[in-house]
This record gives sequence, structure tokens and C-alpha cells, in this order.
Amino acid sequence: MKITDLTMTMIEWTGARVQYGAHNPVLGSSQIGLVTIRTDEGVVGQSYLGASYRSAEIEAWSMINVLKPVILGRDPFDRGIIWKALLNRINSTSYRAIGAIDVALWDLAGKAAGLPVHKLIGTCQPSVPAYASSATLASPEAYVEQALAVKAAGYVGYKTHPPLGISADEHILMHQKIRDAVGPDFLLMLDAAGHLDYSQAMKVGDAIAEMNFHWFEDPLPHTDIWTYVKLCQKLKIMVMATEYAPGNFHFYAPWITSHATDALRGDVAVKGGITPCLMTAHLAHAFHMNYEIHHGGNSVNNIANLQLTMALPNSEMFEVLLPNEAHQFGIVGDLKVGPDGHMHCPEGPGLGVTYDDDLIKRHTVAVLS
Ligand SMILES: [Mg+2]
Repeated sequence: MKITDLTMTMIEWTGARVQYGAHNPVLGSSQIGLVTIRTDEGVVGQSYLGASYRSAEIEAWSMINVLKPVILGRDPFDRGIIWKALLNRINSTSYRAIGAIDVALWDLAGKAAGLPVHKLIGTCQPSVPAYASSATLASPEAYVEQALAVKAAGYVGYKTHPPLGISADEHILMHQKIRDAVGPDFLLMLDAAGHLDYSQAMKVGDAIAEMNFHWFEDPLPHTDIWTYVKLCQKLKIMVMATEYAPGNFHFYAPWITSHATDALRGDVAVKGGITPCLMTAHLAHAFHMNYEIHHGGNSVNNIANLQLTMALPNSEMFEVLLPNEAHQFGIVGDLKVGPDGHMHCPEGPGLGVTYDDDLIKRHTVAVLS
């Protein structure tokens, strides 16, 4: 089988616009790119590129001009060779664009084999416990209200993205209110999105450890391995960094060997596809560390992340960023937490995604080839 074509259909995506940290702008609309890879045997692989806060227009030029020529004529099952060849061009593109091709190739391979991606890799868990993750909200009361709604909806836990610029004391007060509201045992996590300094992180980390929080995510800036080492040595709570740490697979090594994080983190969009996430998960596994998966930014990457997580022995939960309308678009039968608090994968070969063709047609602004 040979790859004969790659196109990217640019689709206008309007809807809820929210913020999770200083890293993401609040946009009126963005474009999502439907990547379609075709072969000489008629088997097709597809994925989505982009998010509501990050338009696929950023990657469009390099997808067509830099990456497409690398894959044309290759065997679509040679994902290892292809990923390495794509990575050679990283200086002229992004991990997100490479990731969209890799995810589409896994979809294609699953369809050719008649198997969902998690079975193709090797299933470790038939479904994954799901937790909900907040946007930045206006007041502590808004977080309390959301935490209670999340618990009532059946999620196994709740993670906050606190407002930007609040003090350590305000962090502590807000999270104590949430803990008091949901009870002593409901799973809670805090994601500071890299906004705290060392003294703030120490104070907040000690306090939420006392409140029985499960993990403290990205307390410090993503480049500050040096201070993360100190923080990990001192805090009792599990510290989880590396979601947006610069670099890719190879750049996890210093975080592990320096003891700068207690678990690794990544997702198929930010880290360049399912292929490097699998490598990273196995690397973490060798050190008895978990690899926890970030949300995917769009409906298809969320499902790709779920397929991946189902095939990992060392991944605990599935992240669902709220509100849903900022992360779900353009497919039929999108993910929804089950009555058991788990996320269940759609049936069907490949990613198992059914695209909403009518909606896509109505909102298509260009087809790039
Ligand atoms: Mg995070």
C-alpha cells in the first residue's frame, strides 16, 4: 500500500471561548483542519488539527508544503520511519502538525486491520476513569458550584485551573472551599499552568497536600527544571510537570533523571502523535512512573488520547476539559462520561470517529492540497 494524497479541509469553528492559563488566547473563532490521507488501495486515515483557542491556520502552510512531500509514496504502515522523517523537518513545522499526520496514520492502520487503535497497540484497560477539568472561573463560588456539578454528573474527580494572578493565600482559600463542598474523599487536582514561583508553590503545595489533593500540576514555569527538583524534594503531594515542557520525546530524560517531576504528561496533539506518546509512556513505565494524558483540544484528538490511554499500563485517568462545547466539534456521538464514571471508546476500526459530514460541508472555508 502506498500513500497517494494528503488534503486538509479548513473548517470554521465558532462557539464557547474560554481560558485555562496565560498560554491560551480567548478567540472569537478558529479553524480546524480535517487531515485526510489517501492510499492506492482506497484505505483512508483522518484526524483533526487545531483547537478552539489555536487555529489550524498556524500549521496549514507547513502541512502542505513541508510535511506532505515527506509522506507521499510511502507505505502508510511504516509509521516509525515516517515519524522520524517528519521529525527531521521540525524546524519548519510544529509537533502538532506532525501529530495530526501520525494520528491519521494510526486511524488508517486500524481501518485496514479492522481493529480499533487500542487493540492494534494492545489493550490494557477496557475504559478509563474520567475527571473534569475547569476553565479559569470568576470566583471561588463558581469553582465550588462546578465541582459539585461534576461530582453529580458522575466524574471520578475534578481539577481546577485557578484564576490568573491570585495569591498563594487566595489559592488555599479557594481550594479549601472546594474540598469542604465535595467532601474529604472526592478526587481533586490543581493545575497552576506554570504560573507560580517557588515560595508560592511550596505554600500552596503543602496546603493542598493537607487537603488530600491527588496531584499538583505544572506549579512552576515549564522551563524551570532546576526549581522543580527542589520542589519535588520538599512537597509531599505528587508533582506533575512536562505537559508543555519544551521539546519532545528525548527531552523527558532530564526531567526523569533529575527527579524534577513525579509523573510524565503529554497528549497526541502537543507531543506529535500517538507514536511518541507510546514511547514516552513506556519510558515512564520503566521508571515506575505514570504517564497522564492531557486533553486533546478537539473531538478527534480526545478520542485518539482515549484509544492511547486504553493501551497504557501506567495511565490513571482521562481528562475532560470544560466546557464541552469548547472542545467538541464536528463529529457524531462525541465522548460522554458513563454512569460508571469512565470514558468508553466508540466502537469501530481505527479511531472509531464518525464525522458530521453535513456540518463540515456547511462550515468548510477551503480545501488545501
Ligand atoms: Mg495541564
